[in-house]
Amino acid sequence: MDKKSVRDLDVRDKRVLVRVDFNVPVKDGRVTDDTRINRALPTIRYLLDSGAKVALVSHLGRPGGMRNPDFEMDPVAGRLEDLLGEPIHKIDVAVGGEVDEALDSLESGVVLLENCRFYNDETKNDPGFSDNLAAPFDFFVNDAFGAAHRAHATTVGVASLLPSAAGLLMEKEIDYLESVLSNPERPFVAILGGAKVSDKLGVIESLLTTSDSLLVGGAMCFTFFKAKGYEVGASLVEDEYIEDAKRLMEEAGDKLSLPIDIVAAEKMEDGADTRTVKVDEMPSGWMGLDIGPETVELFAERASGAATIFWNGPMGVFEMDAFAKGTEGVARAVGESEATSVVGGGDSVAAVRKLGLDYEMSHISTGGGASLEYVEGKELPGVAVLPDKEDS
Ligand code: ADP
Ligand code: MG
Repeated sequence: MDKKSVRDLDVRDKRVLVRVDFNVPVKDGRVTDDTRINRALPTIRYLLDSGAKVALVSHLGRPGGMRNPDFEMDPVAGRLEDLLGEPIHKIDVAVGGEVDEALDSLESGVVLLENCRFYNDETKNDPGFSDNLAAPFDFFVNDAFGAAHRAHATTVGVASLLPSAAGLLMEKEIDYLESVLSNPERPFVAILGGAKVSDKLGVIESLLTTSDSLLVGGAMCFTFFKAKGYEVGASLVEDEYIEDAKRLMEEAGDKLSLPIDIVAAEKMEDGADTRTVKVDEMPSGWMGLDIGPETVELFAERASGAATIFWNGPMGVFEMDAFAKGTEGVARAVGESEATSVVGGGDSVAAVRKLGLDYEMSHISTGGGASLEYVEGKELPGVAVLPDKEDS
């Protein structure tokens, strides 16, 4: 990565504000998935070991620019304290004199600021709010790759006011995505699934140029099948994207592989009657809800021959056991392959974790939307604003 790293900063006895991505699911006051907290630990530990005074700031959920007890950072503080093994001094604000006081009296552990989205000015990237955020600090470190596609005060505003650098997780995310995109070891196989073509049109186009083979499953394949003139029954189809699908298939030629068989059902329900059918034999009124076993075999074979794999989007409705086998089969194949494998996307990562296969992948991206925008070749404002290494 050519961006300045937290390792390039001299942080001893300095006050460092770290933007982390603690946007974790919380239920009944408890964090139900602490992946993102875990992934932020290396940067926090590095800074503590380097003698810095550390404060963390994150958003949590969508409180809509005002204080809301359902989105307070307290559950995160508890979980972070357990994981880090250091005291967490959670305060109820993100700006103002209380932040200064908390840092002044900090003897061990870290300060956790309140949800930055309690402030309406956060998402507006308001200059005055950014000034207030930056005021108590000497340095800013951005470790929230998952928020880097947003130009907000805690990702962009404050970075333009303080000497800044990328955190260790941010570095790792970018290094892995770069290794996939700029100079992948070949063959480079991309696997795309999930709900909608519309979400991922840019990603498909980009991967059609960079990959050697693009495998498409999930609901999005039905827009392609409809474009081919097949019966798709009641499957999820985006009619507005049929022309795009036709164009993509023409441009892609052999590079694009669609499923050859499908698990269909009359209803999207776990106990529903299912049938495995060839893709051009979908019973009318039925819905395609997973890729079939022959497709799993085809995709697995491609994965096993790959040197680099990028995977985004589940192959079927993996949340229901009846339609989870496609995603599971592909996850196992990607995990078993010798390739450098990068998995991105909120639901894809959830599926891989549910299967306990996360440690079989080279890299699991924590940045759902951000990693997709990166793959599309878009500039991420939170990354762009960080200074380059040679500027140091
Ligand atoms: P990610 O978060 O990994 O980027 P998406 O959000 O694009 O993935 O898509 C995930 C969703 O797609 C899941 O909720 C899954 O149930 C749904 N999905 C996958 N295949 C189908 C299908 N054939 N029909 C309907 N929904 C599907
Ligand atoms: Mg999703």
